[in-house]
Amino acid sequence: MATRRRFVLNTVSSAAVLMAATPLGAAEPARLEETDPIAVALGYKNVAALVDVQRFPTYVDGHDCKGCKLFQAAGGEQWAPCGVVPGKLVNAGGWCAAWVKRA
Ligand code: SF4
Repeated sequence: MATRRRFVLNTVSSAAVLMAATPLGAAEPARLEETDPIAVALGYKNVAALVDVQRFPTYVDGHDCKGCKLFQAAGGEQWAPCGVVPGKLVNAGGWCAAWVKRA
């Protein structure tokens, strides 16, 4: 019984230490809304195929954020920071007029 009690206390203590070590405010940034003024200005769409090609004729079918040099995914994330959209996440399948081919 003492062993079980010790195990429970150790587990609870370990969890408390982990929770205390988690930085406050470490929440994921918001996802870029297509209605955001910067998104409107850049013609950003969460789904590249929905780009307004009349307004943004530079769009090329098959280009998307994951193929853009400015997409900052650390390892295959669907949503990641972008070099031209500070503090927001963009969709790997999205597109905007600032698209630059990833090297
Ligand atoms: S700059 Fe690139 S990664 Fe950022 S929104 Fe535009 S296409 Fe996507």
